[in-house]
Amino acid sequence: EEPEEEFDEQLELEDFKLISRIGEGAFSRVYRAIPQPNSSKSYLYRTFQQVAVKVINKQQLDSSHKDSKSKATSKEQVLKEVAIHRTVSASENVVSFVDFHESPNYYFIVQELLAGGEIFGEIVRLTYFSEDLSRHVIRQLALAVKHMHALGIVHRDIKPENLLFEPVDFIPSTTPVLRKSDDPRSKQDEGVFRPGVGGGGIGVVKLADFGLSKQIYSTNTKTPCGTVGYTAPEVVKDERYSMKVDMWGIGCVLYTVLCGFPPFYDEKIDVLTEKISKGEFTFLRPWWDEISEGARNAVRNLLEVDPAKRYDIDQFLADPWLNQYDCLRSQGL
Ligand code: ADP
Ligand code: MG
Repeated sequence: EEPEEEFDEQLELEDFKLISRIGEGAFSRVYRAIPQPNSSKSYLYRTFQQVAVKVINKQQLDSSHKDSKSKATSKEQVLKEVAIHRTVSASENVVSFVDFHESPNYYFIVQELLAGGEIFGEIVRLTYFSEDLSRHVIRQLALAVKHMHALGIVHRDIKPENLLFEPVDFIPSTTPVLRKSDDPRSKQDEGVFRPGVGGGGIGVVKLADFGLSKQIYSTNTKTPCGTVGYTAPEVVKDERYSMKVDMWGIGCVLYTVLCGFPPFYDEKIDVLTEKISKGEFTFLRPWWDEISEGARNAVRNLLEVDPAKRYDIDQFLADPWLNQYDCLRSQGL
């Protein structure tokens, strides 16, 4: 069925067979894999026909740690990612953790496979999403964040590359978006019924990649991790507001899916950093012309520079635009 490919990593594996590469990060490669029936861990994989395996190269990771100031060893870093992934895994909108395995040369993080891949790819493919489709995606992202924040964990790397989805065979017909004829996006056929395999609809959306995630407070005590009494005020404030970085991340993703480009961009990194620190973004014309006031209001409340005024996850989940009726919802999606 598929071209046989050999992977170095395969030599160290007996639980599953790597099939093809589906993703890549700085120190990791992600493969689609098939669990092997005679593995001693087959009980773990029973419910999975396929899995995604994040393979982390120990040598590459170690060498990156040599010149970093971080105290954590590379192994501690991976174990932290695994521990957090395990902790947050029990949510419909978080990629399920399956297993962790270490060999002489690699770490393996086994997860459920999200066959659609990155939401990023869908933005590239469709240019931008209708408000209904945007709501469908962002609502599920918000539920994932709600789950994590309730556990005192902040994701810290929310972006379209780390949002994965399960494809559905069709996009239920959505409200047609009327655009001016000079808008390059007016050519796009949105909200059309696309029957057949690979129709390209977005079904369940799940948050992935806990490599930068952090436990902020313990759920038992609701107090920050570490000694409280001697903590400096800016650290206390930092802790209190650190969950809000995910809300900013949701705001950036929402802005991007609605119009097709990110809220902050500049070729020069220092100019970009300055724009972000001032929270300088605009609803750029003509691309934002037909986007509703409700959607803009949600974006404004998420991309609020002052973390104290910025939406928290409960405020966002109560946002009128997010709760507006749409036909994706009526289709049970
Ligand atoms: P990194 O920490 O290197 O960014 P990620 O965990 O984000 O690694 O994985 C890198 C990429 O691999 C993702 O952006 C995605 O394209 C793909 N990927 C990761 N996990 C899965 C999964 N469970 N199902 C499908 N694709 C995945
Ligand atoms: Mg990633």
